[in-house]
Amino acid sequence: MIIQLESKITEQAKAKLLEKIKETGYKTSEVRTQFRSYLVATGSKEFDIRSIGNLPGVADIHRVSDPYKLVSRKWKVEDTVIDLGDGVVIRRGDLAMMAGPCSIESEEQVLKTINHLKDNGLSIMRGGVYKPRSSPYSFRGLGIDGLKMWHDLAQENGIKIITEVMHTEQIEEMYPYVDIFQVGARNAQNFNLLDALGQVDKPVMLKRGMSGTIEELLQAAEYVFSNGNEKILLCERGIRTYETASRNTFDINAIPILKDKSHLPVIADPSHGIGIRSYVEPVALAAVMAGADGVIVEVHETPERAASDGQQTLDFEEAGRLYGKMRGVMKIRNS
Ligand code: PEP
Ligand code: MN
Repeated sequence: MIIQLESKITEQAKAKLLEKIKETGYKTSEVRTQFRSYLVATGSKEFDIRSIGNLPGVADIHRVSDPYKLVSRKWKVEDTVIDLGDGVVIRRGDLAMMAGPCSIESEEQVLKTINHLKDNGLSIMRGGVYKPRSSPYSFRGLGIDGLKMWHDLAQENGIKIITEVMHTEQIEEMYPYVDIFQVGARNAQNFNLLDALGQVDKPVMLKRGMSGTIEELLQAAEYVFSNGNEKILLCERGIRTYETASRNTFDINAIPILKDKSHLPVIADPSHGIGIRSYVEPVALAAVMAGADGVIVEVHETPERAASDGQQTLDFEEAGRLYGKMRGVMKIRNS
């Protein structure tokens, strides 16, 4: 059960409300986000929720039996809109295209990518500065200095930044330079990180865990929301299955399911989803047709020389063609 509190609820009214919920045998957690205050009550007894809904200070009340609650569409029917400022908005009905290298490598590479994005009408650039690599001997990113360099160039060119944060201690130093914090598949259930990102006021994109279920992804989002941050994006990036012909198995089913079960925007990552350059395009187009609100793709001027994930990275020409085709699919989807 979720109870949204009126912003001007008195302490007295809140105490009365908590007392009344306690009488039903429900356990209550208080959630205060950037926008609103809620009481999330869990319990199993059936009762008429109007007995609580009619009390002073209650703005709205709903029964939500899912293990995730505030991110559930049973709570909020309208879609969440993520506004990055300067007219860059991620919302249902539009397609947010985000592109960039797996890793930020140099000033020259960043500038070339920014020009590529601008030439193609994109305004969100991806790139890792802290890279989770299977081998400790692989390139692990340029770190905070790389992020600062990228941020200067992005700002000059009106480009927004999405990049992965791997550790709670990185949040503060990264904060001024990031527009969307990405949580990688390997950290999908790092609950300390999710708690901490709930306390920032910038959007967070949560990747699905390597072997994470849809419900686990939604519960990860619930961690962020219940710690105070309502600006969340969900990302399907493929899961590990018994299939070995591709790096991961992109779960196209997850897109309509997530969109139905949650009010949060759903982003598709076909690059990690299939992991093979020549197949990124069909998977991306399928994801758009399936209803993705955004797509994030890895691009590099010379994928063969990329510091990471070159095997699944498109060159600028391939990427340009893909953006055009995705726009074409959007026309069909909206028709
Ligand atoms: C990435 O986006 O480069 C990345 C490491 O993604 P994932 O966490 O999905 O593997
Ligand atoms: Mn990558």
